[in-house]
Amino acid sequence: MGRYTGPVCKLCRREGIKLYLKGDRCYSDKCGINRRSYAPGQHGQGRRKVSGYGIQLREKQKAKRYYGVMESQFRKYFEMAERMKGATGENLIRILETRMDNVVFRAGLASSRKEARQLVKHGHFKVNGIGVNIPSYLVKVGDVIEVVENSKGSEKFKELVNDQRVAPDWLEVDLDNMKVRVVALPKREHLDIPLEEHLIVELYSR
Ligand code: SF4
Repeated sequence: MGRYTGPVCKLCRREGIKLYLKGDRCYSDKCGINRRSYAPGQHGQGRRKVSGYGIQLREKQKAKRYYGVMESQFRKYFEMAERMKGATGENLIRILETRMDNVVFRAGLASSRKEARQLVKHGHFKVNGIGVNIPSYLVKVGDVIEVVENSKGSEKFKELVNDQRVAPDWLEVDLDNMKVRVVALPKREHLDIPLEEHLIVELYSR
């Protein structure tokens, strides 16, 4: 599957918001958006009139970039959200939040979603005792995600668990044992960026 490999701070600057794509750097003075809070490019500092469509598009791009999902996958998630019971926007957030790479990041077992994706792909995690190396794997209530035994002693994970981050309450995190239990489904109030998902629904419903 394709993925974006360009400079990621530009993505935050384009959306005008921190998307936390670079791990520790995002929390430091070196953060690109702290240094240059305007959009990238020659006309980034100019004032632009944005249409209704433009606003909806930006909201969709923001969500895609935040979760590191490409367009085709994002569209599939939207179609899945439409088929589910309840509000499509909230369903979409739930799907994105329950991706394995997001869960690993939100639990504090990776410093960014990008790193979480790498760690999952490299086989450092199991779900309910079975190895899972698919970052897009969707977890369910009751699932237990755990670092595999061989990786628990690695410096990387020791560093990560020392860098304690507050996990959302739909995840029960046991950092000593590098284990996470999904105790509920995420809701929109668990989001850690402002996202107006109704704009995404409107965009795809055009
Ligand atoms: Fe975004 Fe992180 Fe770069 Fe800041 S450092 S602009 S939050 S990716």
